[in-house]
Amino acid sequence: MKKESNDNIIMNRQQRVELNLTRSQENLLRARKSLALGVSSGMRAAALPRPLYIERGFGPRFIDVDGNEFIDQCLAWGPLILGHAHPAINEAIIRQLDRGYTFGAQCELEIEVAEKIREIIPCAERVLYSNTGTEAVQVALRIARSATGRAKVIKFEGHYHGWSDNVLVSYTPELQNAGPHDRPQVVPASAGQLPATYKDTVVLPWNDERQIAEYLAEEGRNVAAIITEPILCNNGCILPEPGYLELLRKLADRHGAALIFDEVITGFRAHLGGAQALYDVTPDLAIFGKAIAGGFPFSVIAGKEALIAEVDAGRTVHAGTFNGNPIGLSAALTTMTTLAMDDGAALKQAQTYGENVIATLRDLAKEHDLPMEVSGLGAVFRPILGARSPVRNYRDYAKADKEAGQVLSLELFKRGVYCVPDGRWYVSAVHGAKELHHLQTVLPEAVEALARQYHEKTESL
Ligand code: PMP
Repeated sequence: MKKESNDNIIMNRQQRVELNLTRSQENLLRARKSLALGVSSGMRAAALPRPLYIERGFGPRFIDVDGNEFIDQCLAWGPLILGHAHPAINEAIIRQLDRGYTFGAQCELEIEVAEKIREIIPCAERVLYSNTGTEAVQVALRIARSATGRAKVIKFEGHYHGWSDNVLVSYTPELQNAGPHDRPQVVPASAGQLPATYKDTVVLPWNDERQIAEYLAEEGRNVAAIITEPILCNNGCILPEPGYLELLRKLADRHGAALIFDEVITGFRAHLGGAQALYDVTPDLAIFGKAIAGGFPFSVIAGKEALIAEVDAGRTVHAGTFNGNPIGLSAALTTMTTLAMDDGAALKQAQTYGENVIATLRDLAKEHDLPMEVSGLGAVFRPILGARSPVRNYRDYAKADKEAGQVLSLELFKRGVYCVPDGRWYVSAVHGAKELHHLQTVLPEAVEALARQYHEKTESL
């Protein structure tokens, strides 16, 4: 098998605009005949210039079926926080494969993992397991409703909490259909979502202290939970305003609602203890998915004793054939242990790499007179172009030039760097000097190409 090398990336650069993607294209056409959209998860169909077929991943890179090598800044949309095929995860999984994949009964690993989570996540007095972020969100909402005896759930505009009917609303609504800023319209994202399922979902603007305080003053007694991404990673990687998460904590306490942090992305990217540790605000419940098991399907609902007790009391049902399977557990334990080693050195490596890229992007934007901000944190961030004022919420972000983010991703793709199609960057603990070196060469070219297109477009307006 071919070993890791820089050669293909350099070749990509020389071929630049004309990468050969023939086999990926042929595969996609073939797949469309037997697979909906030709891909396995809808959002992947939007990949530019086209969905890629990957041959093999190794560390911070992968090779596609046409032999192109890329630095992977998408990382499976977040999970691969230790990169592809990490030796410690591989070893743990292979060891477990020999002992059995799933038991539908207890194994000691599930206690070890729960104890580890309790050690590192501030809100984790106890935990429950499931397999995806979507499922775990539903468990958390059910527990909150069960504990409070209330129906309403506040979610924020632009936040994503999985694809279930009750929360897949106002995720990326068209602004003309989104209603007033103060009280956004609840906009379903998909055909087939029954209105009855989201009639108790209330959508409010994020980072707006007044709106949530006013809403809760009127309706607080009916609100079971406030659910938020502590950093709005799914639309712009927008940070909370200073004091905003603290305010949510205070208001939830005042009105007897559960505060739920959806840490599916911030889990281990913001901090080893999640965004709750970074901002020192402890929610009642938190959801972890994606990176917690380094690339294996596994998710966690962590929370305060008083809430998890609903399940102990037999009032709240939590179930799942694959819950706590030893493969996911092995991957999670190894990922958490590796990230926690040497005082969190692995995570710091990811954050420092990202901060380096962010600083370079900001300098290049200045040099090319581009109105580009880079929003987020070192381990997950996104360039935002054309925002006229600070981006504080979904609507500010939706008004920015999103196409430009895609143009930058596309220019980078041609030069051997693969980002999330919407322009988001994920960084792993194994991205290092070699990858940075490549980026220091190709980022100036890509930003220059973006600037050319951006200035041409704005001049012609
Ligand atoms: N919450 C957040 C914040 C997410 O980003 C995602 C997935 N992108 C989910 C929940 C759903 O997780 P999954 O795709 O594992 O169901």
